Amino acid sequence: MVKVNILGSASGVPTKKRSCSSTAVLSAESAYLLDAGEPCSRLLVKEDIPYNCIKAVFISHMDPDHFSGIFMLVKLMALTGRKGPLKIYVPEEAVVKLKEFFRTVYLFEEILSFDYDVFPIKEGVFYHDENINIAGLPNTHMQKRLQTRYPQLPLESYSFVLKTADRTIGYSGDLGCIEDLETLVDTPLDLMIVELAHIEPSSLMEFLAGKDIEKVIFTHIHPELEDREDDIRRLAEKFLEGRCSIAYDGLRMEV
Ligand SMILES: [Zn+2]
Repeated sequence: MVKVNILGSASGVPTKKRSCSSTAVLSAESAYLLDAGEPCSRLLVKEDIPYNCIKAVFISHMDPDHFSGIFMLVKLMALTGRKGPLKIYVPEEAVVKLKEFFRTVYLFEEILSFDYDVFPIKEGVFYHDENINIAGLPNTHMQKRLQTRYPQLPLESYSFVLKTADRTIGYSGDLGCIEDLETLVDTPLDLMIVELAHIEPSSLMEFLAGKDIEKVIFTHIHPELEDREDDIRRLAEKFLEGRCSIAYDGLRMEV
């Protein structure tokens, strides 16, 4: 069994009810964090998640709403005497810059109580431990947004597939187009956590309707969608018949 706890369910625009993207996944005695938008540290505390059990953090892409909480999280771990190592995975383009920035904010690895390091996300399985393996699926989110203006930049962004001994979970990250989901739904999924800010909700739900997915959590809720939550719920019921939830901060699900 895997426990999923949505910490922040907003898009890049936080609302009174929702904070930026972060999701905790708990398997056995370990926890993993998918994206680290702010204020993920406070939300981990609020949700009573033992944040010093987080073995690794996976940042799907370098938009601030997905990674701005990482510095405070490492600071919190240091202040509370964490001992175990922490691995932080980001798109390759950001590895060196992020390490430098940790030093800029005085989070020198050599004076903290624990080791941390920054690693690149790769296509395919790039992380595994005794509980879980995680694969990166490149998507077009950053390219769709910025390639015309900044064609020289790597513009990496990823979706993830997480596999434990008996469960498979898909995590969309932010998407560029609906076709980005094709590889994600190649495998049967026990749960899919999919963003709702960059794809038209009805096309997304129609796409998901025929797929081998046990449960769906829609997250990354833009303020305009928050105002239309009842419509979205009706649409979701029509296409996915009781298999879906609209994320809110603090949503917990056992998979
Ligand atoms: Zn985003």
